[in-house]
Amino acid sequence: MNVLIIGSGGREHAFAWKISQSPLLSSLFIAPGNPGTARLGTNLAIGVADLAGIAQAIREHQIELVIVGPEEPLVKGVRDYIESQEDLKHVGIVGPGAEGAQLEGSKDFSKNFMHRHGVPTAASQTFTKESIDAGLAYLDTQSLPIVLKADGLAAGKGVIIALTLEEAKTALREMLLDSKFGAASDKVVIEQFLRGIELSVFVLTDGENYVVLPEAKDYKRIGDNDEGLNTGGMGAVSPVPFATASFMEYVDNRVIKPTLAGLKADGIKYQGFIFIGLMNHEGEPYVIEYNARMGDPETEVVLPRIESDFLSLLLAAAKGTLDKEKIEISEQYAVTTMVVAGGYPEDYRKGDIITGLDQVTDAHIFQAGTREEEGQLLTSGGRVIALTGTSNTLEKAIQKSQKAALAIQFEGKNFRRDIGLDVLRYKG
Ligand code: AMP
Repeated sequence: MNVLIIGSGGREHAFAWKISQSPLLSSLFIAPGNPGTARLGTNLAIGVADLAGIAQAIREHQIELVIVGPEEPLVKGVRDYIESQEDLKHVGIVGPGAEGAQLEGSKDFSKNFMHRHGVPTAASQTFTKESIDAGLAYLDTQSLPIVLKADGLAAGKGVIIALTLEEAKTALREMLLDSKFGAASDKVVIEQFLRGIELSVFVLTDGENYVVLPEAKDYKRIGDNDEGLNTGGMGAVSPVPFATASFMEYVDNRVIKPTLAGLKADGIKYQGFIFIGLMNHEGEPYVIEYNARMGDPETEVVLPRIESDFLSLLLAAAKGTLDKEKIEISEQYAVTTMVVAGGYPEDYRKGDIITGLDQVTDAHIFQAGTREEEGQLLTSGGRVIALTGTSNTLEKAIQKSQKAALAIQFEGKNFRRDIGLDVLRYKG
């Protein structure tokens, strides 16, 4: 079977790596891909949101399965577009249509969805420019800290946790009146702050049946000990010790089943990944957010732990035959450390020569923000390369990942030294 992966990050390199191992694969294409994916398949110079270009590539390369990596094409309706093409009805797609992708594309939509279907989540209300006075008055009645979320996609930056009432009111005014996050903050969700430990849970569904993939914990801040600015993700670990079998069963009953039942009740056909960001608040799982795709860098620790044929699982999700599939998960630990460009997540360096990949002998290399020019590998994005170590102990997996991150060299390189250490210290 010919497969097309849409995206160009570490997540897509990890997808390409895993799918390449499948006996079901004939040819692999990645749009647009990166130098890492180019070693596993054919990169196509097509942007992730170029829907017509994607449809054309499906025809040209007789693609039977499309796997959508990032959120942008999902929210833009890449599934709906492909399905609207008479000659592409047979093509399987992993990723929901635009309506299902609203679970990620609109915080207001997802909060209403959760409230409507009894999925546990923090209390919230949504406000617009027209209702800003009600929003300010609402803030007066809330306890602190308080969370303000831009409704639309804001590349993980649209969330403000205000510690004082003044800060909260200023943030609300900036978001609604000064378009702090552009059109994404035309609506703002004000949400109760929840204390607890975070956990990412990944579900693959065919609209009827589902499998739960390995869970993960990610590290969002730029600095060690979770200090500094938010990033797209600096590392991840799987498994997560507090995600015990009994907690995960509870999550299944309280969160996953009601979410899938809610989608059905709303008439939303959903075939693809649901990434559920959870807060374990006093033993209760609360949904912080849904994403309509896999996480990056979580994918870089989730996929190395899947022992079943991943392409077979993806195909079953797209064809509605997931009930016949079983997922086998390795008990090994996986840890990924993201090596980032100097300056990231603010203005960062680009075009620096990367060396040292050949020194990495005991970790997976997943390229993200890289490009190749005249045989040289250069930095081209903020998050440059993810290095995943696996082992039967967490300690060794951390060591492998960190050693690999040290081996990669480029001017201005930065990475966190503490990925997984909190999990290692966790005593339950
Ligand atoms: P989101 O984009 O909704 O995932 O939010 C980004 C981050 O903000 C989350 O990963 C949490 O660390 C934090 N966050 C979001 N909502 C809440 C909440 N209600 N209580 C505490 N922290 C939150």
